[in-house]
Amino acid sequence: MKTIIAANWKMNKTPLEAQTTTQELLKLLQSNKNSEIIIFPSFLSLQNVYSTLKGNTTIKLGAQNFYPENAGAFTGEVSIDMLKETNCSWVLTGHSERRHIFKESLELIEKKTLFALEQNMSVILCVGETSEERAKLKLEETIKQQLLSALKNAKSNTLSKVYIAYEPVWAIGTGNTASTNDIIEAHSLIKKHLSLILEKNSNQIPILYGGSVTEKNIKEIISLEEVDGVLVGGASLQAKSFSSIIFQANA
Ligand code: PEP
Repeated sequence: MKTIIAANWKMNKTPLEAQTTTQELLKLLQSNKNSEIIIFPSFLSLQNVYSTLKGNTTIKLGAQNFYPENAGAFTGEVSIDMLKETNCSWVLTGHSERRHIFKESLELIEKKTLFALEQNMSVILCVGETSEERAKLKLEETIKQQLLSALKNAKSNTLSKVYIAYEPVWAIGTGNTASTNDIIEAHSLIKKHLSLILEKNSNQIPILYGGSVTEKNIKEIISLEEVDGVLVGGASLQAKSFSSIIFQANA
């Protein structure tokens, strides 16, 4: 299995800036073969990034968000069919900023996850505890609830498109990376609950880590047997630091 290195650009970069970063990345990544690289730009930048890639398959495209209906009166929303026209084949669901800032419910996250899988998209379902939940020793309960609610009704023939990202909320954008012990513990809990929820095929589901991954800590994180890839926010915004993460992950 290739190491998965995903870049979440969040609400950063204008379409022109996204185009420039993509050009820089393509130059830097000429020799990459061992990673599956996915960029999640803003909706508005998808078209620019797609045309900059010019059919180059080194980098795959993903969307940070979408609405789980085919089309219709959903003002301000974006459908999966629209995303597919910009060659988007990946989506994020359950990202902590969607859960906590935009108050996405467990029900909506389930609906989005199942809808995207039915539409043949690859889905990175993000799970992770807040610092309060961790302090109250609710790590396992939180992870279990987030996995169970999103995946209990997933059809077994869609599971090859499911990816999990363990993203402790207290580690996202804070510079406080989880320790290797924290990562091992959480990834092992995720594996345990995936096998309880899904029974078959759960072993093949890759588990990524996300939360203040940088050029400085990638080597240690990716060396863990429990980690199949990373989801990178801040350190993915510059082509130089993101490509350094990719090269170190491959080394
Ligand atoms: C993220 O947005 O998913 C993320 C992990 O961000 P950062 O790397 O900046 O912590």
